[in-house]
Amino acid sequence: MVTVETIRRALLSWYDAHARNLPWRVGPAAHAAGVRGDPYRVWLSEVMLQQTTVPHATPYFLKFTARWPTIGDLAAAPDAEVMAAWAGLGYYARARNLLACARAVAADHGGVFPDTEAGLRSLPGLGPYTAAAVGAIAFDRPTNVVDGNVERVVSRLFAVETPLPAAKPELKRLAGELVRDARPGDWAQALMDLGATVCRPKAPLCERCPLTAHCAAFAAGAPETYPRKTAKAVRPHRHGVAYILTRGDEIALVRRPPDGLLGGMLALPTSDWRSEAWTPDEALAAAPSDADWRHVGEVEHGFTHFTLTLQLLRAEGDGREVIWSRRRDLDGLPSVFLKAARAGLANLL
Ligand code: SF4
Repeated sequence: MVTVETIRRALLSWYDAHARNLPWRVGPAAHAAGVRGDPYRVWLSEVMLQQTTVPHATPYFLKFTARWPTIGDLAAAPDAEVMAAWAGLGYYARARNLLACARAVAADHGGVFPDTEAGLRSLPGLGPYTAAAVGAIAFDRPTNVVDGNVERVVSRLFAVETPLPAAKPELKRLAGELVRDARPGDWAQALMDLGATVCRPKAPLCERCPLTAHCAAFAAGAPETYPRKTAKAVRPHRHGVAYILTRGDEIALVRRPPDGLLGGMLALPTSDWRSEAWTPDEALAAAPSDADWRHVGEVEHGFTHFTLTLQLLRAEGDGREVIWSRRRDLDGLPSVFLKAARAGLANLL
């Protein structure tokens, strides 16, 4: 009879042999020898990994920890420096939450993370997933760590027919039934690793999986069809105009309002973003200054909830209430504006 213990033994043995070597991770052998992870590094990696892949997050993680080796260093960093270092990771609200959390740990907890899930959850900007992950990985608390990877593995293991997102509570409950007091940090990371490297979304490598004998979706065939999903809504499309105003070697930037998408970030001046395309006259009327604006192309950028097409208008001239920046110093801009600036300045950079 297949029991939870059989599944756990199979996956933990696989993890002992195949755990990914990650810069924020204490591997299973070191963990068994008593080495414990640094909660700061675990927390930082989890926040970064919520929105991107390990290969993309790794250089950011190394950059952050080299520049701000402790939570106290990060807490003392100026907002603008942290936001600029975050550029390219997207979801800038997370960078603001990151700072708020670091400052709360430094100011209210003496620079030491709370070591329980409930204590972690009380920190600003630290949601249920991150609290569970840090609780398990850094403090070996038997929490239920469920992200998209874990949902996928569990939905296949138990052949859950309810489509996402309605299946979430059921998947969480099933994942929770696999958690035990023994090795909770290793267990959470073993599930993450299995989801990332073997039980992959489109082409699961079932022949390499330690759970094949226990997996209902594998037994039924077509495991890649799990988790079931409801039909996807079409992602809305928005349109805007980005203005590339240059003055010799400089380009005009603005700081976006603190609230809303890309809040507080340096940006190119833009029009509103709306569902209808902008006519040339409307684009000129919304320009930040009177100048000889020329249409120099367009770029498209995918955000999580919509796709944006930006028409690019360029002019040489002066502007009021703008921040002049050297053209070669644009790397800290959010990706959408970097893409627009590069396209608009093509041949001039
Ligand atoms: Fe995923 Fe295949 Fe393993 Fe089932 S057998 S958990 S579908 S990799």
